[in-house]
Amino acid sequence: MRVVQSNHHTQAAVSESITGRKALRLSGLWKSFRETQAVANVDLDVERGEILCLLGPSGCGKTTTLRLIAGFDAPDAGTIEIGGRTVFGPGVNESPEKRRVGMVFQEGALFPHLTVAQNIAFGLGRTRHRKEQVASALRMVDLEGYGERYPHQLSGGQQQRVALARALAPEPDLILMDEPFSSLDRGLREQLRTEVRAILRERGATVVCVTHDQEEAMQLGDRVVVMNQGRIEQLGSPEDIFHHPDSRFTAEFFGTADFLPAWQDGDFLACEVGSMPWPPFWPTPWPEHKVLQIMVRPDCMDILPDPSGDCIVTRREFLGAFHMYAVALPSGQQVQVLKSHVEDVEPGSRVRVALREGHRLLPFIDGRAFFDGPAYLAELNGTHG
Ligand code: ADP
Ligand code: MG
Repeated sequence: MRVVQSNHHTQAAVSESITGRKALRLSGLWKSFRETQAVANVDLDVERGEILCLLGPSGCGKTTTLRLIAGFDAPDAGTIEIGGRTVFGPGVNESPEKRRVGMVFQEGALFPHLTVAQNIAFGLGRTRHRKEQVASALRMVDLEGYGERYPHQLSGGQQQRVALARALAPEPDLILMDEPFSSLDRGLREQLRTEVRAILRERGATVVCVTHDQEEAMQLGDRVVVMNQGRIEQLGSPEDIFHHPDSRFTAEFFGTADFLPAWQDGDFLACEVGSMPWPPFWPTPWPEHKVLQIMVRPDCMDILPDPSGDCIVTRREFLGAFHMYAVALPSGQQVQVLKSHVEDVEPGSRVRVALREGHRLLPFIDGRAFFDGPAYLAELNGTHG
């Protein structure tokens, strides 16, 4: 299964072997700083031309992972392959310059004493086409005519576009971005995100982009890796992760979610806001120590004003097009409900909570999503059957 090292291949053989391989492959990657386990057993494959977002809370190991890939730090264990070439592994540790990786940082990464053109030319080496390459890079990020300016003469958004041009100009095998938009204000951030995505797509670039912002990961990533305490919590398309979070951690980090106590009610699995058919192969009676919950997102539910309703609106938050309501259910448990601003409900009002059509309730057992897979069933029956 292990990939052979490509040092002794002929050029043709190398190119051929590369086409069949992943753009990036991390296997069993570990890195600790004294007692902090920053990266713990990370396995990851990135396809060519894919934009992959590494998403997670501050301190979960995103930047460390990028630094290991770039070669700024060495893993304690594991292998790293870029374009089918082992750049870190037993007896191999390529220097960052040799890894053919472009980096875009949060901010301030341009050389202040160099012009825009000189910044972009920096990584190009002394090629005959250098001038042309710089001009083409500037065109790509829509900054023609800015080559003679210095970084301090540019806006934050323009500086980040130069940083992207500088990273892309040498046509690296892989682009690594670390919170590239987080120093910009919101409007600019969204605009630049869209522009950058289009540029990366047009170039067919393979990208690993780190962010702590779930909205950014949703918009930018073909796939998203949710990280938690150095480990990969879940990997999938943004839609997949939003609709089928594996764990409570992912559900709450990628979107907003409430978890309601659930129970068996005849042929149904019920919670305070609704019910679904009881999975036929689930044990009955339900083993008491297995915590049964149903996940609901704010868009799954609606509130309907009703003087005889047994729920009460406790808070209303204005989000522009929507209000986010906090609603106390009869048990006292609170849920969050999203509702268009045109139907305003006063805090303190009595309401009924209804499930919106087309939304599925998602059962969780002991904080893990239940998918009606045979493996889980076997586990459940093995332990309690
Ligand atoms: P993120 O980018 O997700 O916010 P980092 O990868 O920067 O997280 O950090 C992961 C963990 O490793 C954190 O607990 C951080 O404090 C620790 N860490 C990162 N770099 C170092 C370092 N050079 N020395 C000691 N601890 C570090
Ligand atoms: Mg970081």
